[in-house]
Amino acid sequence: MDNIIKVEDVVYEYLQEETNLKALDGVNLDIKKGEFVVIIGHNGSGKSTLSKHLNAILKPVHGNVIVAGMNTKDEDKIWQIRQNAGMIFQNPDNQIVGTVVEEDVAFGPENLGINPDEIKKRVETSLKSVNMYEFRNKAPHLLSGGQKQRVAIAGIIAMKPDCIILDEPTAMLDPSGRKEVINTIKKLNKEENITIVHITHFMEEAIDADRIIVMEKGKIVLEGKPKDVFTQVDKLKKLRLDVPYMTELAYELRKSGLKIKEDILSVDEMVMSLCQY
Ligand code: ADP
Ligand code: MG
Repeated sequence: MDNIIKVEDVVYEYLQEETNLKALDGVNLDIKKGEFVVIIGHNGSGKSTLSKHLNAILKPVHGNVIVAGMNTKDEDKIWQIRQNAGMIFQNPDNQIVGTVVEEDVAFGPENLGINPDEIKKRVETSLKSVNMYEFRNKAPHLLSGGQKQRVAIAGIIAMKPDCIILDEPTAMLDPSGRKEVINTIKKLNKEENITIVHITHFMEEAIDADRIIVMEKGKIVLEGKPKDVFTQVDKLKKLRLDVPYMTELAYELRKSGLKIKEDILSVDEMVMSLCQY
């Protein structure tokens, strides 16, 4: 079984919700081990609600979520599920618990009851893999947003997860912080085969995904490879979503009569295409 996550017919409603819209309304999703999945969707489309189902913060009202073979409704498995599918949130300040970087990264494995020698090793390798080892003795509050998010990611890696779920981890960061975080998660995916579920409203961050999932009103309304999703510019605009800058530019150039490829996502592809013109 190579599906690390299975979401089966999931419905979720918040009790206090005023509208009769369901936050999740029949979501089905299989994520393979090692896959890099990006979820996009307008505000309120259900992205955060879905992500919280993937590590048992929320339980479906209807349907099931299975993580590494464990049902999130199985109370006995909750900690194993959370260790398996670690979660990173938007605000870097809310995720730091330690007063020293090292201590912060050790927090997760300590809670798993891992022995001190092994924790020491894990803290070191985790900090190295997010490129924050040289900051190990620093106070987290002195770090930049991008650095704090990388420390938070190290804290998750130290628990040896199969999967990391990131709910708009770059939303509060400046462009260089965003790049640091994106490069880190790409590297963890490629080099350590960690499955990534990345929620973002920056379309550029979705260009290299294996698959993009588009949500609207609690449903998955579009999914596929970046080129297949982003070439549907009109449909995305209807969903109040942007496309990558270069895709937008190609779309506008085509509208003005230039016979340029429509499946352009990156600057490099745009340059290639224009030079051949
Ligand atoms: P997204 O992350 O895509 O912006 P959310 O999953 O946060 O979407 O929200 C989906 C729907 O659920 C929205 O209609 C939102 O208003 C509602 N919702 C989200 N969180 C809560 C909550 N804690 N209580 C009540 N309603 C909520
Ligand atoms: Mg959200």
